[in-house]
Amino acid sequence: MGEFDLIARFFKRPVQRAALGVGDDCALLLPRPDTHIAISTDMLVSGRHFFPETDPMRLGHKSLAVNLSDLAACGAQPLAFTLALSLPGVDEPWLAAFAQGLFALADAHGCELIGGDTTAGPLNICITVFGEVPVLAGRSQALLRSGARPGDDLYVSGTLGEARLALDALLGKINLPAEALAAARLRLEQPTPRVALGLALRGVASAALDVSDGMLGDLGHILQSSGVGATVDADAATELIAFSPFYIRAAGQFGIKLSEDQWRTLALSGGDDYELLFTAPAHVREAVAQASRSSQTPVTRIGQIETQQGLRLTNRQGQPLANTYASFDHFA
Ligand code: ADP
Ligand code: MG
Repeated sequence: MGEFDLIARFFKRPVQRAALGVGDDCALLLPRPDTHIAISTDMLVSGRHFFPETDPMRLGHKSLAVNLSDLAACGAQPLAFTLALSLPGVDEPWLAAFAQGLFALADAHGCELIGGDTTAGPLNICITVFGEVPVLAGRSQALLRSGARPGDDLYVSGTLGEARLALDALLGKINLPAEALAAARLRLEQPTPRVALGLALRGVASAALDVSDGMLGDLGHILQSSGVGATVDADAATELIAFSPFYIRAAGQFGIKLSEDQWRTLALSGGDDYELLFTAPAHVREAVAQASRSSQTPVTRIGQIETQQGLRLTNRQGQPLANTYASFDHFA
């Protein structure tokens, strides 16, 4: 099978929202009036971002999910994406499964594949997503990293740390019973992009980003962009793993033996969570709760934005903790 047969067979699908999809030199998008196009790219490199033997259906899902997560963080409505693929060879069952996982998630979000590039080489998947954000009275409604203000509450969606738990188990660093590993592994390999929550937080949250490299490190980006500091309740964040149904089951039945500090490390610097970390003024707490309900996405308040620069960690009782929780950096 040649390059063009491969594209036609696995990736060419009719478009409904875009003006032109796969097949010409460019795709054509139809932006609605009074919108900004939000654009984001994420690359997944075999052996770096995923194990080469990862289930291709899950890999198709994850490749798009991490990109949709960026749109979610900006409060953008997904519109379209491009797919640049480098493949070691034409493995038809692999491609069919990859496309199935990819398109299942794409269809769930009305996000159309409009183009890409295909080349032979080491397995590498690069997706660019396009989304829409309304512009009201000349102002973009996009959620940015730079809008956090002293006094704002700090929230995180969903749960933290489970993807890293699975990764550490797959790398043989910790011992997880098979059933616990299967549950945690779903969080690593099939993350849920929080698109509905991001949309619901437009006009409510003051700043947002998605947690990909570890919660505290990513929080640092909000603090730096906004020129503020924060205090984070490390235990409130850690309880998101510790008291999740998964944890209770795992701890109760299987007795996963990790120290308090190991659990904290998973939550605070685990990475690959793809949850939204966001800030909002205290007077909109009810609107945040409403956004959480309408998007059916749990959110938890884990800290406070402050004028004093830097990041301070406390335990549940408000006593200071040392911050030894570095986040992931490809070149560190
Ligand atoms: P060009 O050489 O003009 O860049 P290509 O021959 O690379 O075009 O691709 C032909 C068409 O197929 C283009 O419309 C391109 O966007 C699309 N395409 C190539 N690879 C992919 C892919 N992996 N997924 C979706 N569309 C693709
Ligand atoms: Mg090309």
